[in-house]
Amino acid sequence: MPLKQRKIVVMGYRSVGKSSLSIQFVDGQFVDSYDPTIENIFTKTTRIRNQDYDLKLVDTAGQDEYSIFPTQYSMDVHGYVLVYSINSPKSFEVVQIIYHKLLDMMGKIQVPIVLVGNKTDLHMERMITSDEGKRLASSWKAAFLETSAKHNESVADVFHTMLQEIEKANGNVMEK
Ligand code: GDP
Ligand code: MG
Repeated sequence: MPLKQRKIVVMGYRSVGKSSLSIQFVDGQFVDSYDPTIENIFTKTTRIRNQDYDLKLVDTAGQDEYSIFPTQYSMDVHGYVLVYSINSPKSFEVVQIIYHKLLDMMGKIQVPIVLVGNKTDLHMERMITSDEGKRLASSWKAAFLETSAKHNESVADVFHTMLQEIEKANGNVMEK
Protein backbone atom coordinates (compact mmCIF):
# COMPACT_ATOMS: atom_id res chain seq x y z
CA MET A 1 0.00 0.00 0.00
CA PRO A 2 1.31 3.47 -0.79
CA LEU A 3 2.94 5.54 1.92
CA LYS A 4 0.50 7.75 3.78
CA GLN A 5 1.59 11.18 4.96
CA ARG A 6 0.30 12.18 8.38
CA LYS A 7 0.79 15.39 10.31
CA ILE A 8 0.23 15.29 14.06
CA VAL A 9 0.45 18.22 16.45
CA VAL A 10 1.51 17.72 20.07
CA MET A 11 0.08 20.32 22.43
CA GLY A 12 -0.18 20.96 26.15
CA TYR A 13 1.01 23.11 29.01
CA ARG A 14 4.74 23.72 29.43
CA SER A 15 6.92 21.02 30.90
CA VAL A 16 4.41 18.18 30.60
CA GLY A 17 6.77 16.18 28.39
CA LYS A 18 5.69 17.00 24.85
CA SER A 19 9.27 17.07 23.58
CA SER A 20 10.27 14.06 25.67
CA LEU A 21 7.44 11.98 24.20
CA SER A 22 8.26 13.09 20.66
CA ILE A 23 11.99 12.46 21.02
CA GLN A 24 11.45 9.14 22.78
CA PHE A 25 9.24 8.00 19.91
CA VAL A 26 11.42 9.32 17.10
CA ASP A 27 14.91 8.71 18.53
CA GLY A 28 14.32 6.13 21.26
CA GLN A 29 16.01 8.20 23.95
CA PHE A 30 15.06 10.33 26.93
CA VAL A 31 16.55 13.79 26.85
CA ASP A 32 16.57 15.30 30.32
CA SER A 33 16.83 18.94 29.43
CA TYR A 34 15.45 20.01 26.12
CA ASP A 35 14.99 23.68 25.33
CA PRO A 36 11.33 24.31 26.26
CA THR A 37 10.99 27.25 23.88
CA ILE A 38 11.87 25.33 20.74
CA GLU A 39 9.20 24.29 18.35
CA ASN A 40 10.31 21.38 16.27
CA ILE A 41 9.05 19.16 13.53
CA PHE A 42 10.20 15.56 13.81
CA THR A 43 9.77 13.04 11.07
CA LYS A 44 9.58 9.29 11.28
CA THR A 45 8.40 6.51 9.08
CA THR A 46 6.54 3.78 10.84
CA ARG A 47 4.63 0.71 9.77
CA ILE A 48 1.41 -0.51 11.30
CA ARG A 49 -0.38 -3.56 9.97
CA ASN A 50 1.22 -3.48 6.53
CA GLN A 51 0.74 0.22 6.11
CA ASP A 52 3.71 2.58 5.96
CA TYR A 53 3.30 6.07 7.33
CA ASP A 54 5.41 9.12 6.85
CA LEU A 55 4.81 10.95 10.10
CA LYS A 56 5.40 14.62 10.74
CA LEU A 57 5.26 15.43 14.44
CA VAL A 58 4.89 19.08 15.33
CA ASP A 59 6.27 19.45 18.86
CA THR A 60 4.85 22.80 19.92
CA ALA A 61 6.54 25.09 22.44
CA GLY A 62 3.47 24.77 24.69
CA GLN A 63 0.36 26.69 25.53
CA ASP A 64 -1.23 28.18 28.62
CA GLU A 65 -4.74 29.31 29.45
CA TYR A 66 -4.18 32.61 27.66
CA SER A 67 -2.75 31.29 24.42
CA ILE A 68 -4.66 32.00 21.27
CA PHE A 69 -4.97 28.84 19.22
CA PRO A 70 -2.29 29.24 16.57
CA THR A 71 -3.84 28.98 13.12
CA GLN A 72 -0.74 27.32 11.71
CA TYR A 73 -1.69 24.29 13.81
CA SER A 74 -5.01 23.96 12.07
CA MET A 75 -3.85 23.52 8.51
CA ASP A 76 -3.32 20.04 7.03
CA VAL A 77 -3.32 18.49 10.49
CA HIS A 78 -4.63 14.94 10.77
CA GLY A 79 -4.74 14.68 14.54
CA TYR A 80 -3.83 16.18 17.90
CA VAL A 81 -2.02 14.65 20.84
CA LEU A 82 -3.03 16.66 23.93
CA VAL A 83 -0.67 16.10 26.85
CA TYR A 84 -0.89 16.80 30.56
CA SER A 85 1.27 15.55 33.35
CA ILE A 86 -0.30 13.34 36.07
CA ASN A 87 1.41 15.38 38.80
CA SER A 88 0.10 18.72 37.59
CA PRO A 89 -3.55 19.79 38.06
CA LYS A 90 -2.68 22.99 36.26
CA SER A 91 -1.68 21.06 33.15
CA PHE A 92 -4.94 19.07 33.34
CA GLU A 93 -6.85 22.35 33.43
CA VAL A 94 -4.86 23.81 30.54
CA VAL A 95 -5.36 20.74 28.33
CA GLN A 96 -9.14 21.27 28.65
CA ILE A 97 -8.81 24.92 27.67
CA ILE A 98 -6.73 23.93 24.65
CA TYR A 99 -9.37 21.38 23.70
CA HIS A 100 -12.15 23.97 23.75
CA LYS A 101 -10.12 26.40 21.68
CA LEU A 102 -9.38 23.61 19.23
CA LEU A 103 -13.10 22.81 18.92
CA ASP A 104 -13.99 26.46 18.42
CA MET A 105 -11.49 26.69 15.66
CA MET A 106 -12.41 23.47 13.89
CA GLY A 107 -16.14 24.20 13.97
CA LYS A 108 -18.02 21.16 12.76
CA ILE A 109 -14.96 19.34 11.52
CA GLN A 110 -14.21 16.33 13.69
CA VAL A 111 -10.57 15.75 14.27
CA PRO A 112 -8.97 12.77 16.01
CA ILE A 113 -7.55 13.46 19.46
CA VAL A 114 -5.49 11.35 21.81
CA LEU A 115 -5.37 12.55 25.42
CA VAL A 116 -2.14 11.62 27.20
CA GLY A 117 -1.35 11.68 30.91
CA ASN A 118 2.45 11.65 31.04
CA LYS A 119 5.01 11.05 33.85
CA THR A 120 3.41 7.92 35.33
CA ASP A 121 6.81 7.10 36.84
CA LEU A 122 6.19 9.93 39.32
CA HIS A 123 3.49 7.90 41.06
CA MET A 124 4.29 9.39 44.48
CA GLU A 125 3.41 12.80 43.07
CA ARG A 126 0.26 11.75 41.24
CA MET A 127 -2.53 14.33 41.48
CA ILE A 128 -4.75 13.25 38.58
CA THR A 129 -6.14 9.73 38.74
CA SER A 130 -6.32 7.47 35.70
CA ASP A 131 -10.10 7.59 36.04
CA GLU A 132 -10.19 11.37 35.77
CA GLY A 133 -8.15 11.18 32.59
CA LYS A 134 -10.29 8.41 31.19
CA ARG A 135 -13.49 10.29 31.97
CA LEU A 136 -12.26 13.46 30.33
CA ALA A 137 -11.21 11.60 27.19
CA SER A 138 -14.52 9.77 26.91
CA SER A 139 -16.41 13.05 27.27
CA TRP A 140 -14.44 14.16 24.21
CA LYS A 141 -14.86 10.79 22.46
CA ALA A 142 -11.09 10.74 22.33
CA ALA A 143 -8.60 7.96 23.01
CA PHE A 144 -6.72 8.00 26.31
CA LEU A 145 -3.34 6.72 27.41
CA GLU A 146 -0.99 7.20 30.32
CA THR A 147 2.71 7.23 29.55
CA SER A 148 6.16 7.66 30.91
CA ALA A 149 8.46 9.28 28.38
CA LYS A 150 11.26 8.71 30.87
CA HIS A 151 10.76 4.94 31.07
CA ASN A 152 9.49 4.63 27.50
CA GLU A 153 6.17 3.26 28.65
CA SER A 154 3.29 3.34 26.14
CA VAL A 155 5.03 6.05 24.12
CA ALA A 156 4.80 4.28 20.76
CA ASP A 157 1.18 3.38 21.63
CA VAL A 158 0.30 7.06 21.64
CA PHE A 159 1.32 7.56 18.04
CA HIS A 160 0.03 4.20 16.86
CA THR A 161 -3.32 4.91 18.51
CA MET A 162 -3.32 8.31 16.84
CA LEU A 163 -2.77 6.74 13.40
CA GLN A 164 -5.56 4.25 14.02
CA GLU A 165 -7.92 7.02 15.13
CA ILE A 166 -7.12 8.88 11.91
CA GLU A 167 -7.92 5.76 9.88
CA LYS A 168 -11.22 5.39 11.73
CA ALA A 169 -12.08 9.02 11.07
CA ASN A 170 -11.41 8.36 7.38
CA GLY A 171 -13.84 5.47 7.52
CA ASN A 172 -11.17 2.83 7.17
CA VAL A 173 -11.12 -0.22 9.35
CA MET A 174 -7.55 -1.37 9.72
CA GLU A 175 -6.66 -4.95 8.90
CA LYS A 176 -5.50 -7.04 11.78
P1 GDP B 1 7.63 20.08 27.23
O1 GDP B 1 7.86 21.48 27.70
O2 GDP B 1 6.18 19.70 27.35
O3 GDP B 1 8.18 19.80 25.88
O4 GDP B 1 8.36 19.13 28.29
P2 GDP B 1 9.79 18.43 28.18
O5 GDP B 1 9.72 17.23 27.30
O6 GDP B 1 10.84 19.44 27.87
O7 GDP B 1 9.93 17.90 29.68
C1 GDP B 1 9.87 18.80 30.78
C2 GDP B 1 10.59 18.19 31.97
O8 GDP B 1 9.89 17.02 32.41
C3 GDP B 1 12.00 17.74 31.64
O9 GDP B 1 12.82 17.94 32.79
C4 GDP B 1 11.85 16.27 31.37
O10 GDP B 1 13.02 15.55 31.65
C5 GDP B 1 10.72 15.88 32.32
N1 GDP B 1 9.93 14.75 31.85
C6 GDP B 1 9.34 14.58 30.64
N2 GDP B 1 8.69 13.41 30.57
C7 GDP B 1 8.86 12.81 31.77
C8 GDP B 1 8.42 11.57 32.33
O11 GDP B 1 7.75 10.75 31.72
N3 GDP B 1 8.80 11.31 33.64
C9 GDP B 1 9.55 12.20 34.36
N4 GDP B 1 9.86 11.84 35.61
N5 GDP B 1 9.98 13.35 33.86
C10 GDP B 1 9.63 13.67 32.58
MG1 MG C 1 9.13 21.07 24.54
